[in-house]
Amino acid sequence: MFKNWDDVRKTQDGVARILTNSIARNRVSHSYIFEGPKGTRKKGVAILFAKTLLCTNPQDYNPCNACHNCLRVENNTHPNLFVIDPPGKVIKKEVISNLILELSKASLEPGPRIYIVIDADRFNPSSANTLLKTMEEPGQEVYQVLITENYNSLLSTIISRAEILHFLPINRSIIKDYLVELNVNETFANIISQYTSDLPTAEKLAKNKETEEIYLLVTEIFQNLTLKDQSSIISLYQADKLFTDNENVDIFMNLLIYYQKDILSYKLNNDNFIMFIDQKETIAKLAKKITKNQAQEYLEEMLDLSMKLKYNINLQLAFNKLLMILERGYKYATHSRSDTV
Ligand SMILES: [Zn+2]
Repeated sequence: MFKNWDDVRKTQDGVARILTNSIARNRVSHSYIFEGPKGTRKKGVAILFAKTLLCTNPQDYNPCNACHNCLRVENNTHPNLFVIDPPGKVIKKEVISNLILELSKASLEPGPRIYIVIDADRFNPSSANTLLKTMEEPGQEVYQVLITENYNSLLSTIISRAEILHFLPINRSIIKDYLVELNVNETFANIISQYTSDLPTAEKLAKNKETEEIYLLVTEIFQNLTLKDQSSIISLYQADKLFTDNENVDIFMNLLIYYQKDILSYKLNNDNFIMFIDQKETIAKLAKKITKNQAQEYLEEMLDLSMKLKYNINLQLAFNKLLMILERGYKYATHSRSDTV
């Protein structure tokens, strides 16, 4: 949870600037649309925004994080803050009618009333129109934040009544640094930040034992390719249980691709692009064993296979086949398709 706007600035500088400026000048809009990709912490920013408005002892534009209001926002118990996130694909009209009723109740405390709608693209025409009525004449102290990954699917009449703030995909180096701060190994953190730009997902993966096993398996596979008397076939069989999960399969495939890309980068003298940073020695060894065309060819094999993973194929068979192609090439310099340089 964000404690202050400097925290937000680290990942969403533009959004933080606009909101803190408005708060400092007392020019906050009554309606915002927070738009941007998954994992950009739009909800977290909306909660901080609500906390800032409700705080009884703000310091400049930051909430104090200590007053009764701040604490109740943190515990999700402030009566004036509503987070609308019903289950299902549609936010029905009744949900919005109920909200309007709640907002007008005397049981609320004096001061701002804020509601946050999660995945606001789930409005259907009748709930959108009900909402629109409140947007046309918002109470003096009613504020709304509509959160969406895709604001084009909101009614244009809603869009035109709100101020849109665009959340940018989180810079990968920020994700990497964030994971390293959590004591994640640097290379592993780097790889995860390549795999996802969604901060909560990145953190989840970094803490997941299975993701780490996959990462170790991939480094082992490539290290074994430098040795004539070591095959990874057995390790691949042993990893079978990991592959019962689709996300794991996807991660495994992507990590193989990253590693192969690293070998290609090395061949092209683009060392700076190497993702498996602590594997440079192995990458250099492998790069010397094959031609640039082979490096490209193996990468294409992998990309091909990653497309086929969407279908119901025999994974063990497919991965074994890929491994054989790699072993032939890296261990025995036998080209599988073209022998051109
Ligand atoms: Zn406070």
